[in-house]
Amino acid sequence: MSADLIDGKAFAAGLRERVGEVAAAFAKAAGRKAGLAVVLVGEDPASQVYVRNKGRQTIACNMESFEYRLPAGAQEAELLELVERLNRDPAVDGILVQLPLPHHMDELKVIAAIDPDKDVDGFNVVNAGRLAVGQPGFVPCTPLGCMMLLKDRLGDLSGLDAVVVGRSNIVGKPMAQLLTAASCTVTVAHSRTRDLPEVVRRADIVVAAVGRPQMVKGDWIKPGATVIDVGINRVPAAGEGKTRLVGDVDFDEAAKVAGAITPVPGGVGPMTIAVLLRNTIVAAHRNEKIALEE
Ligand code: NDP
Repeated sequence: MSADLIDGKAFAAGLRERVGEVAAAFAKAAGRKAGLAVVLVGEDPASQVYVRNKGRQTIACNMESFEYRLPAGAQEAELLELVERLNRDPAVDGILVQLPLPHHMDELKVIAAIDPDKDVDGFNVVNAGRLAVGQPGFVPCTPLGCMMLLKDRLGDLSGLDAVVVGRSNIVGKPMAQLLTAASCTVTVAHSRTRDLPEVVRRADIVVAAVGRPQMVKGDWIKPGATVIDVGINRVPAAGEGKTRLVGDVDFDEAAKVAGAITPVPGGVGPMTIAVLLRNTIVAAHRNEKIALEE
């Protein structure tokens, strides 16, 4: 391996520490703690783990964590009513509805019901629009976390060629917009892209957000490029019934060519919750009209 490792786990720990300090000062100034409400519908095991982690880390960062659980069979109207109640609750600064929702619920409708100024996940169309036109709003946590890692590694990104593989609303599209705003020349690749290896080979920055284990190969990477691997894929490992996590990039191959690369796990993954907490403390300052130096 010749690439430098981008240590998202350490960066996220530093970010959480700073958020915790800012949140403690906020509590003093506002006379209350900042609050994050997380809503979980159903019993999806992965979602339960995420929600537990979010709650734990919220409290560790000197904020209030409110957890709401609805059964898998709950009606959409019940969820919308809960979201409305949280919108009106002055103790709640940020609202997160854990996705995916059960199939009988319309995710876009539920996300649209969240007050854009409490939408700390940044999935509401109002925040997507704000990002598109460069107004302050909430940016989805995973791409914003990738951006923090890139700026920390590279400083000024202007003029660099960036290729984002994936065009989802929660990762690929906002990632492309953030890179555009940072004056990169951005290509968004997806399942219909022709000659993907050749497209990726042009990139100074590669962001892989595909959901296909180890798809991006070492010989797709321009020597010295910075590689951000968003993918989280569980694959079989040696040993009966064992599994392990891998990214969308073939790490061992890519690390021989890249200048810097995020590992999986320990790269982008830990950034997501840290950025969620950062977005929540920003929301709390805006709600209480207390200035925040960023
Ligand atoms: P989606 O499934 O919503 O989107 C995947 C994208 O990859 C689509 O745009 C799709 O193209 C594209 N794609 C699929 N197959 C190919 C292919 N063969 N070649 C090129 N492009 C392809 O996934 P998400 O954006 O939600 O997530 C992507 C990955 O990131 C997943 O592994 C997920 O687990 C991980 N993730 C990690 C997070 C974290 O670190 N905290 C948070 C969110 C996601 P098309 O649009 O044409 O179908």
